[in-house]
Order: sequence, then structure tokens, then C-alpha cells
Amino acid sequence: MTANPGPAAPRDEFPLLTIVEHPLVQHKLTLLRDRATPTKIFKELVDEIAMLMAYEATADLPLQEVDVETPLERARGARVGGKKLTLVPILRAGLGMVDGILRLVPAARVGHIGLYRDHDTLQPVDYYFKIPGDVAERDFFVLDPMLATGGSAAAAVTSLKRAGATRIRFLCLVAAPEGVRKLTQTHPDVPIYTASLDRGLNDLGYILPGLGDAGDRLFGTR
Ligand code: URA
Repeated sequence: MTANPGPAAPRDEFPLLTIVEHPLVQHKLTLLRDRATPTKIFKELVDEIAMLMAYEATADLPLQEVDVETPLERARGARVGGKKLTLVPILRAGLGMVDGILRLVPAARVGHIGLYRDHDTLQPVDYYFKIPGDVAERDFFVLDPMLATGGSAAAAVTSLKRAGATRIRFLCLVAAPEGVRKLTQTHPDVPIYTASLDRGLNDLGYILPGLGDAGDRLFGTR
């Protein structure tokens, strides 16, 4: 059985794409896709999948050796070293991924990016941008459940780089090949993590088979 509902673009076209194929992720993603899944469960599933994705996306965090006193003796241990982590949800659907990741990495800070598409230029413009000040010392995880056209994702990464960020990863739950292509071509230094690489986009920019409008399903606004 194949976990991803392709036929997707060949993976060697996207060397920086990681598809998290863990059985629990794929099980929960299938529940998420189901149109009958109610808002409360949808929210819980996004939260859980985001946490499992973050487990994968943090697998290469550097460790520092430390000593620890057990009740019996002194032992060698390890703690996550390196740069501080910042989560940056793209408003509004990205918000649904924050709490799950914070449960794994409680010390992470949270920035926010809000984008709209200018009617005349059709280019994404920030209407809100707030991140912690010590940008150079931070690793950034940009969060959006859906990587569709890639326009917002690429614009969010551009804004972060303009602010001085250099180490950025993009985490989504469902990606379209069009979006991965756009983000990879615009920012070839940004690794992308997804639970599925779907077939493509429809005429309205929705991912197929996808899961519908993630923001509406998360916040019950449809
Ligand atoms: N945004 C969504 O919420 N869903 C899609 O399918 C595409 C973009």
C-alpha cells in the first residue's frame, strides 16, 4: 500500500523535501482529510501531526554533553545545544500547528507572519510581522498546514531573511508539487517537511486530494 495519494512529482526533483511517512502520521492525516471529521477532532489531529512532524524536523539538532546527578551517581547526559528555536506560523492556519510543537520544544519562541495578496500586483504582502529580536542566534520553523502555490511560503521566508534569519525550515502537513517547486526554486536553502506530497492544485488553488480549507476546518468558519 502506498501512503501518499500521488502520482506525485519525482522526489529527486525535490532534494530538500522530507515526507514523514511514519504510520501514525499517515493514519492521522487520513482522518484529517475525511470531510466528516468535525472541527474539534480536526484541531486535535493538526496538533498531533505537527508534534510528530517536529520530532522529525528536529532529528538533527546538535547535542551538548552534560553531567547529570542521578539519585545514585553522576552520569554523562546530553542536552539540545545549538541555536534557539523560533516557530513562525503563517496566519491563520499555521496557528493550529504551534501548540503541538511547543509541547515537544517548550522553550521555543513564537513569531507571527500575516500575509495578503495585493489585488493589483498579485504579490503577497506582510500585514503583520513580529519575530524575536535575536534573529542571528535562532533557527526558524515556518508553519503552514498547506503548501499550495508556494506564494505565501516563499514570501514568508523572504521576509524572515530580510529580517536577518539564515537558518529556516518549512513545516506543512500537505504539499502540492507546485508549492514545493516554487519554494525550492525561490529558497533552495530551506528544507521542507510534509506528511504528504499530493497530486496537484485545482483551478482555485486548492490541493487535490488535499483536505479542503485548513483555516476554515481548524476554526469552524465555513
Ligand atoms: N489552503 C488551504 O487551506 N487548502 C488548500 O487546499 C490550499 C490552500
